[in-house]
Amino acid sequence: MTNAIFNQDPYLKHLKSRIKSIDGDWVELDETIFYPNGGGQPGDRGEILCNGNKLAIIDTRKGSSAGVILHQLETENHDLRIGNEASLYLDWPRRYRHMRMHTSLHLLCSLIPKGVTGGSVGELKSRLDFDLGDHTVDKEGLTDAINKLVEQNLNVSTEWITDQQLESNPELVRTMSVQPPRGLGRVRMVRVDGVDYQPCGGTHVGNTGEIGRLKIGKIENKGKRNRRIHLLLDDQA
Ligand SMILES: [Zn+2]
Repeated sequence: MTNAIFNQDPYLKHLKSRIKSIDGDWVELDETIFYPNGGGQPGDRGEILCNGNKLAIIDTRKGSSAGVILHQLETENHDLRIGNEASLYLDWPRRYRHMRMHTSLHLLCSLIPKGVTGGSVGELKSRLDFDLGDHTVDKEGLTDAINKLVEQNLNVSTEWITDQQLESNPELVRTMSVQPPRGLGRVRMVRVDGVDYQPCGGTHVGNTGEIGRLKIGKIENKGKRNRRIHLLLDDQA
């Protein structure tokens, strides 16, 4: 198991840790601030400083055993060794945009009372797919509604519940295709005060006010009942 520091503190940008295992260009540390690709959110990038050398981390993924997080180095030719101390530096501007976008998707989710069939978090653009059925949505209405939620400066927090608590409240799961990981005994929940509460392993901002202005982009037809809704950070506004 890798100690996933981002679960408690998604704002930590630098961490000293120790190398636990190495497989070619893939490295595991005792602890990490790097989020591994999952739940629609891309793996973090950044740098690792070890033995006086700085190397780029080009991706972060989950390992094959539960709870293991692996960092992909830019090259297999490195002098990292098990037991070495190493410093991790997150590509913070990129990760922070992922945090703002991921929380935005939960806000969007709260505005559309339908099942989620897919989604992905990007740096400036993200999307959520809904099984809309007869439910109709319009771009302007959604843009207004989501920006109102942002402007309310709602607190965002995380907590853990047991597998059993989730089993007894299946309506908490909004995603139709992907189920949260079970079997670990506990499930991480993300709460946007008064607005949204669902299982999620992603990294989020602490307050919706940090998101800034949002814009609903294209709404695409993806099959008879499915609609793909694009969401953009409106940083130029
Ligand atoms: Zn999420």
